[in-house]
Amino acid sequence: MFFSFDGIDGSGKSTQIKLFCDWLAERGHEVVTCRDPGATPLGEAIRGLLLDPNHEFAISRMSEMLLYMAARAQLVEKVIAPALAASKVVVSDRYLLANVVYQGHAGGLEIEKLWEIGHFITRGILPAVTFLLDMSPESATGRIGRELDRMELQGDEFRQKLRSGYLAEAARQPDRIAIVRADRSIDEVQAEIRQIAERHFPQK
Ligand code: ADP
Repeated sequence: MFFSFDGIDGSGKSTQIKLFCDWLAERGHEVVTCRDPGATPLGEAIRGLLLDPNHEFAISRMSEMLLYMAARAQLVEKVIAPALAASKVVVSDRYLLANVVYQGHAGGLEIEKLWEIGHFITRGILPAVTFLLDMSPESATGRIGRELDRMELQGDEFRQKLRSGYLAEAARQPDRIAIVRADRSIDEVQAEIRQIAERHFPQK
């Protein structure tokens, strides 16, 4: 079983993933967590390139998109596919949806093309459910207690486009993307996530 968490920075993904993985482990699942981009040596190197705000060079939107795809191709091959083949539960902090929303809905690249490239490079390995942690960008950014990275420095208008892009994709794929209101207490958010996940483990 493959789950991913997505949403704008500060929406609580890391916080919720930790609690969710604790719950899965208590229920006897072997859990593999990863972040996208990242979780492989190549993926982490690409992540560094993408998020560092202090490069000497600019990264075009198209190159940026392909770097995310390259990191994900490696992640699928080295981490996600082997874990799923061994019947483990995979929980990823972001996945293809983020690429479609950041570089497509907010970044202006062609959305259908991004899904197409994404299906190709992941060999069709997609999460059973993506938990979309939804809240206003202002409140989410207010929660981040550190310096913003390169993607986060793209401004309020960009963040509004991210939110509406995420919601548009969730409306198009209601079976795969579950909207979870993230401007509630950590426990309330987690309870809803577990309830949704439970439906995917009917016999447990
Ligand atoms: P993300 O991984 O989406 O960037 P984090 O889980 O790192 O988000 O959360 C960002 C900050 O907000 C952290 O300091 C975290 O403790 C805090 N936080 C997370 N969830 C909540 C919540 N439901 N209410 C208030 N603060 C939260």
